[in-house]
Amino acid sequence: MSKNINFFKNKITETWPGKKDISTEFIFYLKEKLHLSDVSIYIDDYSLSKDEENSINQFIALKKQEVPLDYILEKSSFYGNNFFVDPRVLIPRPETEILVDFINKLNLQSGEIVIDAGTGSGCIGISLAIHNPHIKVYGLDFSKESLEVANKNKNNLKVENFTTIYSDWLSNIEDASCNLIVSNPPYISSEDKHLRDLHHEPLMALTALDNGLADFKTISRQAPSKLLKGGMLAFEHGYKQEREVSEILKKNGFKNIETLEDHQSHPRITIGILSN
Ligand code: GLN
Repeated sequence: MSKNINFFKNKITETWPGKKDISTEFIFYLKEKLHLSDVSIYIDDYSLSKDEENSINQFIALKKQEVPLDYILEKSSFYGNNFFVDPRVLIPRPETEILVDFINKLNLQSGEIVIDAGTGSGCIGISLAIHNPHIKVYGLDFSKESLEVANKNKNNLKVENFTTIYSDWLSNIEDASCNLIVSNPPYISSEDKHLRDLHHEPLMALTALDNGLADFKTISRQAPSKLLKGGMLAFEHGYKQEREVSEILKKNGFKNIETLEDHQSHPRITIGILSN
């Protein structure tokens, strides 16, 4: 006998009592994956086909393993576009949109070169390329798997002014070749308890040595020779890392250091300008 949607709605509330977010994700799944309408979901108690039922059982099995919805749907919305994501890359975070927004307001000039160091899904670099069609963006990553994902997103979104480069941070970039370097590097310490909730995401994209500061140090050390005069380095960082990241930028010759807050009013983005 075929089952109706209400059967699964109840099953989900029984499996995760009090966990409203999974019920919300379930509704989202029904719309996105099975293309069901609000009427079918909320009013008609729609009767499911065998394939739809299998798909829902698959959703439930993956949620039992705590797989994030974006990986289940292989899709993540970032800065107004849908990006393909899978466990090869980090799921884009809303606070990263603040970094993109800040750069989009800079009025980048035609022909300027922007580097997205540790591009992952490509969400930062591709969003910048889309909103600034007159600039050139290079998305760097040390993970070949993530470059595959970034290229898939470049092709899906038809972005011509974004190119991926395999590179250990800025190592494969020519000296004095870019105007702006942006990065959301891994910045979680490997002892951080938040990691327990992130066990489906690539560890390489999340953790860094030296209390999460190692990659800020490497990039800040490499950046001055790669940037053109007056160039800018912009980082996303952990909410308790503002002081250390500012200090690292200062030590490497950056001036006019400025920090922006995220939606929770946590210091999250720090920027510096190369003084000479
Ligand atoms: N730049 C990508 C993002 O912001 C990847 C970041 C990372 O892997 N640390 O999502």
